[in-house]
Amino acid sequence: MTDFSATKAMFELPEGVIYLDGNSLGPLPNTASARVQGMLTDEWGQMLITGWNKAGWMGLPAGLGDRIGRLIGAETGSVVTGDTLSIKVYQAVASALELNPGRKVVLSDNGNFPSDLYIADGLLRSLGDDYELRVVDPEDVAGAITEEVAVLMLTEVDYRSGRMHNMKALTELAHTKGVVTVWDLAHSAGAIPVDLAGCNADFAVGCTYKYLNGGPGAPAFIYVAPRLAANVRPALSGWLGHEAPFAFDLDYRPGSGIERMRVGTPPIIQMTALSAAMDIWDMANMADVRAKSIELTELFIERVEASCPDLRLASPRNPELRGSQISFRFKEGYAAMQALIAHGVVGDFRAPDIMRFGFTPLYIDEGDVERAVEIITEIMQNRLWDAPEYKVRQRVT
Ligand SMILES: *Cc1c(COP(=O)(O)O)cnc(C)c1O
Repeated sequence: MTDFSATKAMFELPEGVIYLDGNSLGPLPNTASARVQGMLTDEWGQMLITGWNKAGWMGLPAGLGDRIGRLIGAETGSVVTGDTLSIKVYQAVASALELNPGRKVVLSDNGNFPSDLYIADGLLRSLGDDYELRVVDPEDVAGAITEEVAVLMLTEVDYRSGRMHNMKALTELAHTKGVVTVWDLAHSAGAIPVDLAGCNADFAVGCTYKYLNGGPGAPAFIYVAPRLAANVRPALSGWLGHEAPFAFDLDYRPGSGIERMRVGTPPIIQMTALSAAMDIWDMANMADVRAKSIELTELFIERVEASCPDLRLASPRNPELRGSQISFRFKEGYAAMQALIAHGVVGDFRAPDIMRFGFTPLYIDEGDVERAVEIITEIMQNRLWDAPEYKVRQRVT
């Protein structure tokens, strides 16, 4: 059983703040500062270039990949970290397309995060006019999986509402039509149990600065099913994905297995911060995290609906159909969220009217939920959001 009071003590959580935005940027693990400082002083400072070997920097992308892999049901040696999620989406979709020559449609839905759609669109434009990005409503995805489709590219948990696709069923259906799947786990990794191997998934990608607490700009990860890895030709064929980077061959030969999905020099400072976060995750069981997350979100919905009739639930009511976030619609949602943040409850806002709250059992408990609801109630019932200072739009919402 995961000891959530122990994990909560392992994060820096500012006094007076209830942090319900770990779905956007997880908080700082309290060992991360010293870990990064040690890496800077003892490794970079003292070892200089020899750190790549002596301190094991070169092994970090795959080592971190395996630790993340445990949380998402990936086989050992099938996940590698690096780059950003947008880049990993490009890599995955490009490689998936190549596995399905002759087909020219990438299917996605309008619940997907825009960056995934932009990236796919940019990739397809570079391939030629006959390629098509087909975007349908989330509930129409299953019906749109046809033998014309090369790649099904979906984000499992909708970033706005928390609605969840059925990864197993859609992957199975895709395979019956010869479609290769790319799953984005940005709002799944560390939020819900994922079983990539059990779902027979092909490609998956995700980021580590949301639920996984790797810090702003932390590297992304990519999964390739072991049955496919040897046949995948990376579109971003960088030297560190080469079979022998230090042979400095003029021709690219892909590295073995998942190593070929590496591109260039890994961000070691950022990976050191992520490894501090993974020390906490190593102690967590995703089934426990899920059970606790459902308790917290059910409590939150019940209390908010009882005291704030102006807020309309935008997330699925059935906990089995949503991830670990709860969203409410409110016309003045931007101002209401600014007022909440000013009163110590940090969530975020997604246009046009979504107030979003993430529930992260590693450091949020029932007491936090109850206090958060008291503050939300005070702000909604007394219309405290209706003040000019809360209506000024900031650059990041
Ligand atoms: C957060 C998120 C991104 C962000 O991509 P970055 O390259 O890390 O900025 C992309 N896709 C999805 C589905 C996300 O939730």
